[in-house]
Amino acid sequence: MSRLVFVNGNLVDEAQATVSVFDHGLLYGDGVFEGIRVYGGHAFRMQEHVERLYESALSIRLTIPMSQDEMAGVVQDTVSANGITDGYVRLVVTRGTGTLGLDLRGTDNPQVIVIADKITLYPPELYENGMELVTASTIRNHPAALSPRIKSLNYLNNIIAKSEGTDAGSVEALMLNHKGEVAECTGDNIFIVQNGALRTPPPEAGILVGITRGAVIQLARDEGIPVLETAMERHDIYTADECFLTGTAAEVVAVVKLDGRTIGTGRPGPITERLMEGFRALTRGA
Ligand code: PMP
Repeated sequence: MSRLVFVNGNLVDEAQATVSVFDHGLLYGDGVFEGIRVYGGHAFRMQEHVERLYESALSIRLTIPMSQDEMAGVVQDTVSANGITDGYVRLVVTRGTGTLGLDLRGTDNPQVIVIADKITLYPPELYENGMELVTASTIRNHPAALSPRIKSLNYLNNIIAKSEGTDAGSVEALMLNHKGEVAECTGDNIFIVQNGALRTPPPEAGILVGITRGAVIQLARDEGIPVLETAMERHDIYTADECFLTGTAAEVVAVVKLDGRTIGTGRPGPITERLMEGFRALTRGA
């Protein structure tokens, strides 16, 4: 079935959903994006995603040509028009068309694109048994070059890092920051469990501050599980009791091995399973 895509102010058939080859989003990866899950026909944590989109845009000096409320309306309309009950929304804002040069002053007509689709999930075995990870040699962006807090259209180093993971037979890969500390995975945040407490790298470690990460931190605190946001080395993961990833698409998924070292018992741990369950309840409105 053909999808209806919002582009250039209208919902159109996907075959007509096109942007100019002169759009700086295409020419330079000059733009921002969001990925949002739809559960029961509703975009999950919509306001937080829309706020992060506008913060990313502000940081790269991109003015989005509609209000945050209008954006939320367009997302919900696109979800409904495609009859999506459980799925995924990709929200993209490009810089718009310009010259072949870098100057953003000549650009015009930023494009807001909203795609609502079904979602491709990791295989169920990974949720059952946990995943194995390797560390990519490609590091996260240096925050002084391009802040990892910006969800920009320029995802090349994450793409290359992910390919290092898939070459090694993993669906994800761990990325370090420019100091050699643990940052996050290519599209997911990382947590460990140590002596009954959660630990995850802070925003200053050079991460995208994930919305699922925030929901899981809240969930843990509500359940009386302490959460520490502190710098981490790979040694902390190798020696952790449990490890898991969080992300819009992945939700919560256990990690049982990193770089050939077995983490904890080598099975998804009890706190991880409690949070997987708790997050599922949150998304299913239970
Ligand atoms: N880190 C990176 C680099 C990401 O692209 C994402 C989003 N896929 C995440 C973490 C997870 O963030 P969220 O929970 O908001 O999806």
